[in-house]
Amino acid sequence: MKITNTSLLSGLPKPLHQNILKVARILNRSGFQCFIVGGAVRDLLMGRPSKDFDFTTDARPGDIISLFNKTIPTGIKHGTVTVLLHKDVFEITTFRSDGKYSDARHPDSVSFSDTLNEDLLRRDFTMNGIAYDPLENILIDNHGGIDDIKNRIIQTIGRAEERFLEDGLRTIRACRFSATLEFEISEDTFHAMKDRKVHERTKQIAVERFTDEIFKGLSHEKISRMISSLEESGLISLFIPEYPDKNMTEEKLLKLDRLFSLPETFKIAKWFSIVNLDQKARSIASRLKFSGKNIKEIETFLNIIRFSEPQSDLFKIRKFSSLIKGQYGENSLPLIQSISDYSSVNPNIKKIIHSLSSDPLVIKDLAVNGTDLINEGYRGKEIGNQFNEILEIVWKSPEKNQKEILLKVIKKTES
Ligand code: ATP
Ligand code: MG
Repeated sequence: MKITNTSLLSGLPKPLHQNILKVARILNRSGFQCFIVGGAVRDLLMGRPSKDFDFTTDARPGDIISLFNKTIPTGIKHGTVTVLLHKDVFEITTFRSDGKYSDARHPDSVSFSDTLNEDLLRRDFTMNGIAYDPLENILIDNHGGIDDIKNRIIQTIGRAEERFLEDGLRTIRACRFSATLEFEISEDTFHAMKDRKVHERTKQIAVERFTDEIFKGLSHEKISRMISSLEESGLISLFIPEYPDKNMTEEKLLKLDRLFSLPETFKIAKWFSIVNLDQKARSIASRLKFSGKNIKEIETFLNIIRFSEPQSDLFKIRKFSSLIKGQYGENSLPLIQSISDYSSVNPNIKKIIHSLSSDPLVIKDLAVNGTDLINEGYRGKEIGNQFNEILEIVWKSPEKNQKEILLKVIKKTES
């Protein structure tokens, strides 16, 4: 179905708009078709800013490389060439019709195709299968994508079970899109997401792909939608077998949405703590191949979540802050500030921030140093023990962090 539209691109910054038209004209002039396709068309129809502009064309990778000055052969085997035009980066992919998928992720054979219709058929969801001709202002929507976008529905192009069996990542993408777009998954599509064979297929995807999708979903406000889709379809237990059978309650899910402006690692910490997986967080996160930095942050945030009894005892606050400073050094203040919005739920955050910015917390902050201790006759292990004692003193009374006072503290009694 062809629909003539007023320009979808008029809201874009002028240079980007011009560059998109330039790509289309260059291909057209050489007799090739050229369409914007996928997420960008979907986002433009929704009036949302789109990040990536992907093009599809009947030109072959060799043609694309010879037509544009600056290109990168990103995925030649799959027909994708990246084109650089000034500051803009576009991915141009030759029309494809994908063959069988035996590894649950990559088609065994990619065959180039001469028709846009075939290319649209291989795409996952109706909302992602709309093409737009930027020169003629024509939308090609063979699968009812425009209506589904209007009705905010995620459904596969073609039979859901079949499409999920071709590529195991699609089920997880559906859960992720339910959060990022705030769409409902259609009944048929969701039914297939619960299917045992579909689960077997999804299980085979590389765990990094699963994790990428989870982090993408977590960066949006309605993470509750992704989590409940993952829970209700049973997909979550394929990757986290420790996950409890009982799903989270609506109330707890909505609590997670309120963390919207906080770092993804904090959201994971909160999510895991709600479902009682906090003790297993490290092993789950390493199995899911989270980065070392993310694992460390999740652990710190879990400690903060556990430390949520309102503390009037400043010694405890300082001791806790010193652990954070010991781990993150100069980065601890920005890290904790990143979750300072959370103070309504964790009453200690403001105090921790205050402590990190003004209290002596670690050995480096003390008014005496190793040389002072050596001069006083401390050796080996004694030095560490003495530092720990001094730290306890200054956590109790930070005003005692003065050289004369601490020199008196470390003074060895004459024997
Ligand atoms: P986002 O806005 O998150 O980037 P997107 O729809 O652009 O969403 P991409 O992963 O960038 O998603 O993929 C671009 C397009 O490629 C999709 O819109 C879809 O048409 C197609 N596509 C991507 N992954 C798959 C897949 N696993 N199976 C089928 N088609 C896919
Ligand atoms: Mg995209």
